[in-house]
Amino acid sequence: MGEREELTWDAFGSAGRELAAAVTADGYQPDLIFSIARGGLFVAGALGYALDVKNLHVVNVEFYTGVDQRLDLPVMLPPVPNAVDLTGARVLIADDVADTGATLLLVRDFCADHVAEVRCAVLYEKPRSEVRCEYVWRRTDKWIDFPWSSQGPVVRP
Ligand code: 5GP
Repeated sequence: MGEREELTWDAFGSAGRELAAAVTADGYQPDLIFSIARGGLFVAGALGYALDVKNLHVVNVEFYTGVDQRLDLPVMLPPVPNAVDLTGARVLIADDVADTGATLLLVRDFCADHVAEVRCAVLYEKPRSEVRCEYVWRRTDKWIDFPWSSQGPVVRP
């Protein structure tokens, strides 16, 4: 397995603030944040506090089954968010990484049909991503170990 990029909990603290600062500096004021579970939940929480946005939505997308192992296509798992709640809103989609970009593309397209404006914020964007996110903390082409998933599930006693 190739070299990996590691994000620590400590670095995540400043990453979230810096990502939020980029959104603010750009003058974008989202009405709501759309987080892509599970990794995007952490990013959305940090952005929600730093941008003072309390309206957070969650969408569950299944795509990766292991390191660089994917299903053919990402799928939104039910319950799919109610489109009525999104009508006319300025939305910020938050995720941990845009790798192929297929997950963000799916969610962005879902939002784009209903909302006034949609932009994407990620901690990492890889060069092969088919989505160019408006807000990116770091760029890498390595597999990233995130602090929330790198240890795997707790083993049952
Ligand atoms: P994409 O649809 O952009 O290929 O992948 C999006 C999702 O796949 C991410 O939200 C994340 O859950 C998972 N993923 C993709 N690349 C990586 C990676 O380098 N490290 C980890 N831990 N997860 C990844």
